[in-house]
Amino acid sequence: MAKVYYNGDANDQVLSGKTVAIVGYGSQGHAHAQNLRDSGINVVVGLRKGKSWNQAEQDGFTVLSVSEATQQAEVVMVLLPDEHQPKVYKEEIEPELKPGHSLVFAHGFNIHFNQIVPPEFVDVFLVAPKGPGHLVRRTYEESAGVPALFAVYQDVSGEARDVALAYAKGIGSARAGVLETTFQEETETDLFGEQAVLCGGLTALVKAGFETLVEAGYQPEVAYFECLHELKLIVDLMYEGGMAGMRYSISDTAQWGDFVTGPRIVNDAVKAEMKNVLTDIQTGQFAKGWILENQANRPVFNAVNQRENSHLIEEVGAKLREMMPFVKKNKKEAVVASAK
Ligand code: NDP
Ligand code: MG
Ligand code: MG
Repeated sequence: MAKVYYNGDANDQVLSGKTVAIVGYGSQGHAHAQNLRDSGINVVVGLRKGKSWNQAEQDGFTVLSVSEATQQAEVVMVLLPDEHQPKVYKEEIEPELKPGHSLVFAHGFNIHFNQIVPPEFVDVFLVAPKGPGHLVRRTYEESAGVPALFAVYQDVSGEARDVALAYAKGIGSARAGVLETTFQEETETDLFGEQAVLCGGLTALVKAGFETLVEAGYQPEVAYFECLHELKLIVDLMYEGGMAGMRYSISDTAQWGDFVTGPRIVNDAVKAEMKNVLTDIQTGQFAKGWILENQANRPVFNAVNQRENSHLIEEVGAKLREMMPFVKKNKKEAVVASAK
């Protein structure tokens, strides 16, 4: 079994007296900045002028340009969207890096795929929470945390592992458990997980189920509750007790259906395709496509995004969620709704 690190394994001293620059104040950025501050760590936020700048100021942070924040900090955590990181790094972070700096990421993409090549005189590591930024903040406030991975890419100071663990503790992740990995493993498993299971696999599964019911003449509202809404209730049970815990709560009929039908849906062909997806990630094929898509101004991304947002499941879902005020609206939904 892999070693799992908890609060007791971290040495807070390595961050005391240091300043952490959180570059970016989005999903991960706001959570890291606020959690570290609440853990007693000195934080400045690095941004361009705009929406996030105002928000971070409202939240009481010292907000600086990215270069100024880099100058003021010993630890620079890069929490910009992955596709914007190389340019901002080149123009505003790299020129300010000095010996003694730690350059930190929450995902290994740009280092692993050579989009950012750091100088050899800084420590480079990652602390990657295994969950969305808003939950990194919410769970911290609930005295809990989102598990995280850490990996050291360059250790000049000899302290990189300790600083990474102290950082993981500061954002609350060492309450849940922290695992050591490599940039390669974090990058490849993260991309695979989000593509095959968590995001891509899941939305495709939900949509296919919803469409199958609707095309067979069942009410879209019934199909929505069945294939999307109830998913959270099932996943909560899996989160708490694994698959066995979930199966304990469902009826035996549901469990029998799970056993005989699950492997018909995610069959050998699907698993073979998962292996192809993993190969595309490992060979850099996926990364290349995404980098080029961004250079071309995202023609495919934007077209698919528009098509997905106008799918019947979104229309039906928005109406049903209106009637369930206890289902908290997330920001994205407000954005999608206002774009209609
Ligand atoms: P977001 O898209 O939420 O971050 C956007 C932030 O970056 C905003 O504050 C935005 O400011 C700022 N920003 C964008 N472009 C620039 C720029 N050119 N100069 C200065 N600031 C800029 O990112 P995420 O939090 O999703 O991702 C950050 C990192 O965390 C990524 O490496 C990602 O892979 C990783 N990660 C993300 C997870 C998640 O939950 N989303 C999970 C685990 C890891 P403005 O308002 O001005 O646009
Ligand atoms: Mg991830
Ligand atoms: Mg990811």
